[in-house]
Amino acid sequence: MTRRLVVVGGDAGGMTAAAQARRRAPADELEIVAFERGGYTSYSACGIPFLVGGVVDDVDALIARSPEEHRANGIDVRLDTEVVAIDLAARTVTAHGRASGAETVERFDDLVIATGATPRRPDLPGIDARGVHGVQSITDGLDLRADLTAIGDDAPRCVVVGGGYVGLELAEALHSRGLAVTIVEAAAQPMDTLDPDMGALVADAIRGLGIELITETRVDAFDVDGAGRVSAVVAGDRTIPCNLVVLGLGVEPRVQLARDAGVRIGPSGGIATDARMVTSVEGVWAAGDCVESHHRVSKRPVTIALGTHANKQGRVIGINVTGGDARFGGVIGTAVTKICAHEVARTGLNEREATDAGFDIAIATIESTTRASYYPGSTPVTVKVVADATNGRLLGAQIVGREGAAKRIDVLATAIWNEMTVEEIQQLDLGYAPPFSPVWDPVLVAARKAAVEPAE
Ligand SMILES: Cc1cc2nc3c(=O)[nH]c(=O)nc-3n(C[C@H](O)[C@H](O)[C@H](O)COP(=O)(O)OP(=O)(O)OC[C@H]3O[C@@H](n4cnc5c(N)ncnc54)[C@H](O)[C@@H]3O)c2cc1C
Repeated sequence: MTRRLVVVGGDAGGMTAAAQARRRAPADELEIVAFERGGYTSYSACGIPFLVGGVVDDVDALIARSPEEHRANGIDVRLDTEVVAIDLAARTVTAHGRASGAETVERFDDLVIATGATPRRPDLPGIDARGVHGVQSITDGLDLRADLTAIGDDAPRCVVVGGGYVGLELAEALHSRGLAVTIVEAAAQPMDTLDPDMGALVADAIRGLGIELITETRVDAFDVDGAGRVSAVVAGDRTIPCNLVVLGLGVEPRVQLARDAGVRIGPSGGIATDARMVTSVEGVWAAGDCVESHHRVSKRPVTIALGTHANKQGRVIGINVTGGDARFGGVIGTAVTKICAHEVARTGLNEREATDAGFDIAIATIESTTRASYYPGSTPVTVKVVADATNGRLLGAQIVGREGAAKRIDVLATAIWNEMTVEEIQQLDLGYAPPFSPVWDPVLVAARKAAVEPAE
């Protein structure tokens, strides 16, 4: 009998694993079946804000590889089909056709669990009203866009609940469509992956755009009109009239299927794997938002839901499941986002994370410019670095500015990955010309400021 690889989840983690395995093993050696409970494969959820904002018009542009393309490549993709149970002893999955209601039992030799993450949806009065949108899948993005079109000019205000990067990107998208937007955030600053001082710069930038930002406030309820549509958000002492709400409250690894089957879930809440992406069960692999990863700086398991990890982990599985030996190197929490002209970037550990991980830290924050100060278009940029006070090793960095923040963070991410000290970083031979940076790039200036003498 031909060996059979079953994949649960048809997006970044799952289909990268499937496509890589297909590249390395012909169909007469390895049969590959992928189950996706939605209607799309290999889509870019990262592109949803741009679909909503109108930067991208055509939803097909967000599909890296359609089900037909996967099928032509020898992968048996079953759409609208949810895997509802895994039997590890029998090595089968039970798949439920969402439209047909039919249930089939499918055998596997190897299984990839790539079920992604579940967006947080608080159990508040009115949460199920029409006009309250989550944004996790392409279908969610299309529903939101269709709702916006249906409302037309009749949108007094949109409320975005949660000021993480997804919430901010959606706020920008709605703002750029000309809608009045309020963001309600429970913490003191948006972007809680940044330190509060850097989050404050993001808050200023958002407010400067004309987006209302309410912080240290929790949503208590959603008011619903007679037609079943959201009419206001009740948050603290405010009642904010609106007929559209977007939830951006973060996600949790979707692990119930794996947990029910007896696959080990790690301390951070994601499926535990080794560096080869094998779970606690031989022949059962996992990738993407549903797994926990090794943080190379804190040395702790973390769940960080990013497409970049899902793709790498899927590739590792595709190689290993076909007899290779690839390893996922871990994560350091690098993330970038754009809010209108503002770029926000972070990598490694912030102050709180570094302290929690037991480091004695040295901090340096500098303000510089994105280009030579005399060159047209030069704008301010703030760089903060967190270093190990005992030996100067860079532990983390955050950048908020108008241009180049996203790419500058990659320099610092590379330095953290390679365990460089701030002393070494300030010597880096980085490119300089007036249109691109001052003669001392802001990254070098921040490292120089943080440079500390190693402890005796
Ligand atoms: C609005 C938004 C913006 C983002 N922007 C960025 C960004 O800029 N950069 C970045 O790196 N990341 C970004 N991300 C995160 C990125 O999209 C995810 O990390 C990535 O999609 C994870 O891939 P995955 O395959 O693990 O999970 P998913 O993409 O969630 O795919 C999992 C798939 O599994 C399916 N599934 C789940 N359970 C079952 C089941 N039982 N049976 C069958 N199918 C099932 C789901 O329908 C889903 O299609 C963004 C996410 C969102 C929502």
